[in-house]
Amino acid sequence: MNREEMEKKAKKYLNTLCAKMPDRCPGRKQNIKALLMFENIMALYGWKTKRQVFSCITWKENKPVLEAGNKKFSARVSPYSKKCGVKAALKVVSTLDRLRDAEIKGTILLLKGKIAAEQIMPKNFVFYNPPHHKEIYTLLEKKAPAAIITATGRNPQAAGGVYPFPMFEDGDFDIPSVYIKDTLGEKLALYENQPVKLSFNAQRKKSKAWNVAAFKGNSGRRITICAHIDTKDKTPGAVDNATGIVTLMLLAEMLKDYNGKTPVELLVLNGEDFYAVPGQMKYLELNKGKMGQIKLAVNMDGMGFKGKKTAFSFYGIAGKESKKISSVFLKNQGFIKGDMWPQGDHMVFASAGVPAAAITSENLNQLCADITHTYRDKPSIADCAKLVDTAEALKELILKY
Ligand SMILES: [Zn+2]
Repeated sequence: MNREEMEKKAKKYLNTLCAKMPDRCPGRKQNIKALLMFENIMALYGWKTKRQVFSCITWKENKPVLEAGNKKFSARVSPYSKKCGVKAALKVVSTLDRLRDAEIKGTILLLKGKIAAEQIMPKNFVFYNPPHHKEIYTLLEKKAPAAIITATGRNPQAAGGVYPFPMFEDGDFDIPSVYIKDTLGEKLALYENQPVKLSFNAQRKKSKAWNVAAFKGNSGRRITICAHIDTKDKTPGAVDNATGIVTLMLLAEMLKDYNGKTPVELLVLNGEDFYAVPGQMKYLELNKGKMGQIKLAVNMDGMGFKGKKTAFSFYGIAGKESKKISSVFLKNQGFIKGDMWPQGDHMVFASAGVPAAAITSENLNQLCADITHTYRDKPSIADCAKLVDTAEALKELILKY
């Protein structure tokens, strides 16, 4: 297949994923459809696939009603929140210190200012979870407000281009909550100690989904190339991360006759953008004590942004190894050595001592601030030629090992 046909195919894959299967949260219909599409393509090019099945929840909500002093306030339900129907006095807390001695049982608690400056890591998230986040959860569960309103600003690092961002995004946290703009939080705070009404419907439903691991080659230590297939709620997820999945599909075709000495695993992880990272946890569980069988892991996330270079970075790769891998990428002028990015699925490998590389776009920060996790992340912002370039570079890298 020539270059032009490959690019055409990439476009087709990308459009199919984003237009026909947007909203690919783990366990949702579109998520399952995308997994089946990936499995079919792997089978077509002679890859042996294995499902790594896990339990998760899917979630539905309706628009909340938030009222204070006969005024309506615009709010959104925090992802995965339980439903709520409360009328209670409003209490306002702006710092962790204040929260420590606040009496808030049965109230509607407004968190704003410093305490609401960042997104709180989910309770059971193991990869990164600072003590003050854990303390916030512990205090809230002990003090038991009836419901929580969080007033938030912008936080590109954790929340992408979403404003306001949900301070809580956790299906394991059972106090109902909504989020509103920081500016609105200031207005609502004027109603402290007065009755406020908050009601909405929401539903957590048990579901199942899986990772797909596709293999070729003999036994021995393998190379794992991965990308996450899930998206944030209600987003098409083009550059985050359909481009990574498309590149895996292109690579599968380029390697359809692969018979090299190093086994290759093309891995679709399911849950990078989901609070409980279920696919990542499942992969670690299944590979417990066996991560040493991976000699190199490459993760693609946020790559293929139009007009920007493709950036690679290394984790636990140095010296000769680093030169060898860099030289493959740098043959193409569309690649640069990028900044360190100690988040994302490459850390699943790096934190287990596996040499890992990340492939993303050079402008990741801008991407995060404006586009990631919003409806703006659609195929028109991606350049499919970059996906073909990356698949070609990965093929060459695999043949070198
Ligand atoms: Zn991503």
